[in-house]
Amino acid sequence: MINKKFKLFSNCFAVKGINRGIIIDFQRKNYYTVPNQIVDLLDEYSGKEIYSLFSDFNNDKPILKKYIRFFLSNELIIVNNDISQYPAISTNFERPYSIDTLTLDSNLDKSILKNFLEMKIDGLGVSNLRMINEVFNLQEIIETLKFIDKSRIKSVVLYLKYAVGLETELIKLQNKFPRIVEVVFYDAKEIPNNSKFIYEQKSLEEVLAMKIRNHDDFTMELSNFNESLKYNFAYNRTLFIDSFGNIKRYITDESIFGNLNTHDLNKIVQNNEIIDFWEISRDKINVCKDCEFRYICPDGSVPLKTTQDKYYTSSQNCSYSPYSNKWS
Ligand code: SF4
Repeated sequence: MINKKFKLFSNCFAVKGINRGIIIDFQRKNYYTVPNQIVDLLDEYSGKEIYSLFSDFNNDKPILKKYIRFFLSNELIIVNNDISQYPAISTNFERPYSIDTLTLDSNLDKSILKNFLEMKIDGLGVSNLRMINEVFNLQEIIETLKFIDKSRIKSVVLYLKYAVGLETELIKLQNKFPRIVEVVFYDAKEIPNNSKFIYEQKSLEEVLAMKIRNHDDFTMELSNFNESLKYNFAYNRTLFIDSFGNIKRYITDESIFGNLNTHDLNKIVQNNEIIDFWEISRDKINVCKDCEFRYICPDGSVPLKTTQDKYYTSSQNCSYSPYSNKWS
């Protein structure tokens, strides 16, 4: 085996952080922490014989053997005479449409909402809709969902201000409209056991900022990884529409880029400020740029410009520190 060549399987990617690295296995949806030196070696010796690694690092043979065994037992590396049979998977990220997810305040004027859902939304390519309902009005939600049912939208997430006793109606609603994939209560005063819905004690703004809590929140999809290499995964191809129809990048955005009633969203997304915002990948954000999880992290903190340096800062502190590798 020592004379054979090796490299990571095509579905595995190694990422370095400031302190340590990870190897992500997108097929098994798992990751392994490793020292950064191991990531460097995997990079430098990829496609070469194992023998060359051992002969160059003769003194570190025991530790290298340990890692090779670990990689083999977890099927992270291919060892073969001809590794050209295992070409790399492309990390390009291209999509035919500019907008994927729209967050919409349902308090919007009903005729504007109806016109938008009936006439315009399919042309935008939106596949996920997040609907905010501060006041639960079953009839109005049903009317809106009927339009959505005729559209190409694949999934709907309902954000509802917490109120007691809505669950029975919501279960019926979800059965009738299977595109509702999730119901999230915000400002929840209590968190019931065994409910199929999500209850958050936080405000709507905090809930939409999707602060990650632990490693269970990481997203282990290769397409998300590819998107995160270049874009801000939480905000790329997303827009927010407030109750006046104002088009923003996110709920607390102070800039308004047009109005749903008067502007074409396809033109709005060509605005450089929006494009630049979508392109704030975690490599451009302080702390995150040092984090080994930056390409699998869906954290929705808003990146804010600082005057001091070229990097952005996050609107909220993360519970993970890439410097100590600990969660708080
Ligand atoms: S530091 Fe940044 S990239 Fe790392 S886990 Fe926190 S939010 Fe995600």
